[in-house]
Amino acid sequence: MRIDIITVHPELMESPFRHSILKRAQDKGLVEVNLINLRDYALNKHRTTDDYAFGGGAGMVMMIEPIALCIETLKSKNNYEEVIYMSPDGVLLDQPLANKLSLCGNMIILCGHYKGVDERVREHFITREVSIGDYVLSGGELGAAVLCDAVIRLIPGVLNDETSALSDSFQDNLIAPPVYSRPAEFRGWKVPDILLSGHEKNIEKWKYEQSIKRTKERRPNLLKGNNLK
Ligand code: SAH
Repeated sequence: MRIDIITVHPELMESPFRHSILKRAQDKGLVEVNLINLRDYALNKHRTTDDYAFGGGAGMVMMIEPIALCIETLKSKNNYEEVIYMSPDGVLLDQPLANKLSLCGNMIILCGHYKGVDERVREHFITREVSIGDYVLSGGELGAAVLCDAVIRLIPGVLNDETSALSDSFQDNLIAPPVYSRPAEFRGWKVPDILLSGHEKNIEKWKYEQSIKRTKERRPNLLKGNNLK
C-alpha cells in the first residue's frame, strides 16, 4: 500500500512514521508513506496555498489550484483507490473503517488547515471524508497520523503476532479484557487467580466474559451490533 499525505507541514508528520510499528511496516515494505509538501505545487513564487474566503469572514481557505495540481500529478503516476480529506464533519473513524481501509489499495490523504479547503476540492477530488472525533484540530496532520496508525497496524503482515490485532478492542464489537503482567502480586494487589491457573479453556472463557462485562459497562452501543445478550 502506498499512502501519500498532502500537507503544508510535512515536518510535523515525520516523527510518527519513524518509530515502532509504523516504521517496521515501512521497513518490511508493506506500506510506503510519502509526505508531499503542498507548497511545491503552489502557483506563485511565494508558494502560497491559501487565500481569503469569498463572502468574507475570518480565516483563510486552502485554494483549489495547488491541491488540484498536486492530486492530478500524483494520479498521473500512481493508481489510488481513495482520496481522503481529513475533516471534522467527515465520517467518524472507527475500527470497521480502519479494517476496511487496511485492505485498500493506494490512498491519498489531504490535510486541511485554517478554515479548511475550497469546497470544490471536496466535491470533485475527494472520495471519502474522515474525522477523528467531534472536536476541531488546527490542521489535518495529527488526524492523518491517527488514521494511518489505525490502518497500517492492520495491514496483513505488519504485526508479528497477527492475532494480537484481532484481540484488540472493537474487533468483534467488544472491548478488550483487562491484562496483567509480572509480578503476580504488587502491594497486595493480586492478578486474578484464573490467569495463573494454566487452564487455557477457562482463561479464554474468563477473558470473553470480562470483554462482555466491560463492553456492557463502557460501550453498550457496541453490543447492539452483536447477538450477545
Ligand atoms: N472550519 C472547519 C474546521 C477547520 S480546522 C470547520 O468548522 O469544520 C482545519 C483542518 O483541520 C480541517 O480542514 C481538517 O483537515 C483538520 N481537522 C480539524 N478537526 C479535525 C477532526 N476532528 N478530524 C479530522 N481532521 C480535522
